[in-house]
Amino acid sequence: IKIKITNIDIPVAFASAFEGEIIRRKDMQVEFDGSRVDCAELVQTCDASEIEDHKITVIGPEVDEMEFGSKNSIAYVVKVAGKNMQADFEPVIERKFHNYINCIEGVYHTGQRDMQRIRISIDAFNAGFRIKHIGEVLYASVKNEFDAVVDKCEVVIYTDPAECTRIRHEVAIPIFDKRDERLDTLTDESVDVYYSCILCQAFAPSHVCVVTPERLGLCGAVSWLDAKATHQLDPAGPCQIITKERPIDENLGAYEDVDEAVQKFSQGALEHVTLYSIMQDPMTSCGCFECICGIEPFSNGVVIANREYAGMTPLGMTFPEMASMTGGGVQTPGFMGHGKHFISSKKFMKAEGGIERIVWMPKELKEFVADRLNKTAKELYGIDNFTDMIGDETIAEDPETLVAFLTEKGHPALGLDPMM
Ligand code: SF4
Ligand code: ZN
Repeated sequence: IKIKITNIDIPVAFASAFEGEIIRRKDMQVEFDGSRVDCAELVQTCDASEIEDHKITVIGPEVDEMEFGSKNSIAYVVKVAGKNMQADFEPVIERKFHNYINCIEGVYHTGQRDMQRIRISIDAFNAGFRIKHIGEVLYASVKNEFDAVVDKCEVVIYTDPAECTRIRHEVAIPIFDKRDERLDTLTDESVDVYYSCILCQAFAPSHVCVVTPERLGLCGAVSWLDAKATHQLDPAGPCQIITKERPIDENLGAYEDVDEAVQKFSQGALEHVTLYSIMQDPMTSCGCFECICGIEPFSNGVVIANREYAGMTPLGMTFPEMASMTGGGVQTPGFMGHGKHFISSKKFMKAEGGIERIVWMPKELKEFVADRLNKTAKELYGIDNFTDMIGDETIAEDPETLVAFLTEKGHPALGLDPMM
């Protein structure tokens, strides 16, 4: 573990050793909670003339003016300028805020975008820690890590509730929507290159994610645009270009270029990887998959479980049991780790027939993906409300009950060829 210590002018320590620190309610001076009040975190590219480097402004009350134990709004806008800066780098920088703020002793951060949550401990407050110090941390960390693209940086932190509402709804959300839309309109066919990601080789030495517009990294945190930006920011870093000029089988998503890349980046441990099959040379999994899908032989379908799900699946396995078969950077046909957003992708198990193979998901996951998944099912197969045909733990936890439910609903997987 790399312990990074940067000299930042704050009254408490700053080191990655504090990253896992949790602050309980009884130890907390104040908190900020994007799920209850208006919050946002944002990187905004500006013209150099609009930025005064290292200027930190707090608009609204400081921590000493907030009621003890209260829940407050916060929105911080990190303005950056640099001749090599691009809007595509904004989300890559933003995603690091979580690490930066967590490295502060006595401060805890989870979430992102407009859903972040921050707690400041009583001890940190008594040591003199204030909102403006969050600005110092963000300033120093961004300048430190992104010096290749950020020449000037200024931080504005809003705690005034009306200002937070304005920043969230009028500034941040439209930017987040625009980013998501950009990704929505990209397809695997519409781009010239894919990207590898080997960030997880510290834990799974032969693992390589191949990231495409329609298939994000299995951790759910690296989209094709993020991988592209990561490559531009650090050309010798974890994300490398994979060309796609020599297809072997486009339905499987098999390419000579992809095979060569995974051979190289896995140091020879992998020979062939397909992008769209869970049966033939599926992509490997490290350990940080958001979800795992596994073949369910009685229905010719697949069951998907997400990490948060603690119960039983119709495979007779829990998520940790499925994970023990799937992780470690090896290929296990019939089981595959993937991100939540991949579930509604037109490329999900395309080689085996696509999303119509999905027969079961935990209820919460089903609700999370419903809008997007139903849209894809309508486009691909003309099925309305496809998620109504998919089982969950309230319907079935064993294969017999599941198949009876699927039969009653006329689920399309029952009519497909067996996968093995
Ligand atoms: Fe990169 Fe995420 Fe894949 Fe890890 S799981 S290698 S971070 S894309
Ligand atoms: Zn991983």
